[in-house]
Amino acid sequence: RAASRKILRFTLPQNKCDAILPKPRACQCVSFFLQIFINNEWHDAVSKKTFPTINPATGEVICHVAEGGKSDVEKAVKAAKDAFKLGSPWRRMDASHRGLLLSRLADCIERDAAYLALFRHIFSYFFTHCLLKGYYAGWADKWEGKTIPIDGDYFCYTRHEPIGVCGQIIPWNFPLLMQAWKLGPALATGNTVVMKVAEQTPLTALYVASLIKEVGFPAGVVNIVPGMGPTAGAAIASHMDVDKVAFTGSTEVGHLIMKASSTSNLKKVTLELGGKSPNIVLSDANMEEAVEQSHFALFFNQGQCCCAGSRTYVQESIYDEFVERSVARAKKRIVGDPFNLDTEQGPQVDEEQFQKILGYISSGKREGAKLMCGGGPAADRGYFIQPTIFGDVKDDMTIAREEIFGPVMQILKFKSLEEVIERANDSKYGLAAAVFTKNIDKAHYISHGLRAGTVWINCYDVFGVQAPFGGYKASGIGRELGEYGLDNYTEVKTVTIKVPQKNS
Ligand code: NAD
Ligand code: MN
Repeated sequence: RAASRKILRFTLPQNKCDAILPKPRACQCVSFFLQIFINNEWHDAVSKKTFPTINPATGEVICHVAEGGKSDVEKAVKAAKDAFKLGSPWRRMDASHRGLLLSRLADCIERDAAYLALFRHIFSYFFTHCLLKGYYAGWADKWEGKTIPIDGDYFCYTRHEPIGVCGQIIPWNFPLLMQAWKLGPALATGNTVVMKVAEQTPLTALYVASLIKEVGFPAGVVNIVPGMGPTAGAAIASHMDVDKVAFTGSTEVGHLIMKASSTSNLKKVTLELGGKSPNIVLSDANMEEAVEQSHFALFFNQGQCCCAGSRTYVQESIYDEFVERSVARAKKRIVGDPFNLDTEQGPQVDEEQFQKILGYISSGKREGAKLMCGGGPAADRGYFIQPTIFGDVKDDMTIAREEIFGPVMQILKFKSLEEVIERANDSKYGLAAAVFTKNIDKAHYISHGLRAGTVWINCYDVFGVQAPFGGYKASGIGRELGEYGLDNYTEVKTVTIKVPQKNS
């Protein structure tokens, strides 16, 4: 319920509180600002524009949010640049204290998890909490340089310094999680941030902005600008005072981000883009597990996962049984109200994605894939799509090549391991892959042969904040999470000092 044009106020029903959290906050009612967050203050857009946030389950407007554009990005970058100035509170802050602030932020997110979960899938805040608190908060004072034995009478050491103002452009599929993946390493290493959140999902990010202020980050360290890609996003990517941009989203926009860097100031670019990840099921796999995990690999989060297992390669001797069982599983999938705790699948994020997915389903039928189940909308309102499976999919079909980002599974048949490795690698993408087999030699043989940033064996979508994630080929540049994730937020400075060899 929008209390005014600038504040969203909502009340959590008691039964939801109990179901979601053992200890909800005493107050069931919460409110937060729907504006642009710059210098720890809330601002209208310079243009005074707003844009609607729509509930995808009903198509109804929840509230309106300030729409940041170029001028707002200008203000946010100025704030982030000032906060990064030598001698500023943030630059003078002890690294351990930066860790403490991250840790406090994580605690506030956990405290308010019931509210955040109202907007987002429940697992997000658990992961967010352990990422910020258990992991990146700890790194703040442990990201050490080296002393290096160079030739001559010199003492040489490296410092891991923050890059500066980091632009971060995030997508809508895991809004809270993507915000944490980006903020954790950037803040642990002492950067300042201008973040543009996806236009489909600004609410959790604005809620977290209020927590950032509450826990005491100095003004200007984190600035959050809701707005559109071609305006606010593009302004960040091409800004001369932004030192680095981290982007997660479509490969198409990834190209634009690189280009904007190239024609502006050569800001550092990291990208986490799309995928068409192969999931390979060998004839010796545990059938029940392989079916269930392959189902999860594709349908999790309504199929809106960059690493979705969207090409399921099944060895020919078990192909028919696997398809039959997968169809039975998909037909049992519970589609409905995302606030109902039994629901497995909610609506797609918006009308555009909904239409795009239906378009891919038509192309599958047209190009001769066999529709085994689903194939259309699952409700008469909202953006729900039936769990859909195509069998007899061929490698050159559109549905086997392009990212669908929806609940549509492609099953393909293969004979030999050599063949399946080659086919799996025949994609412009290389984000993730999986292998199901009981044979350890085959598991290693295939996983070493695959050109992908992550390979799961007998499991899928297993993430650890400690383990890096990112793409080969057009799936991205750089790695997020883990120690590797810190590299992308630091410059290495080499300092060399002449050491006198006698006391003069
Ligand atoms: P998108 O790439 O357009 O959006 C991602 C983010 O980039 C959003 O914040 C958006 O506002 C911003 N953006 C858009 N255009 C921009 C520009 N010119 N300059 C700077 N920033 C810009 O993705 P989408 O249009 O929402 O979805 C399209 C497809 O992208 C999906 O169907 C899916 O295949 C893929 N996708 C992938 C991921 C992922 O996690 N890798 C996430 C979302 C979407
Ligand atoms: Mn787009």
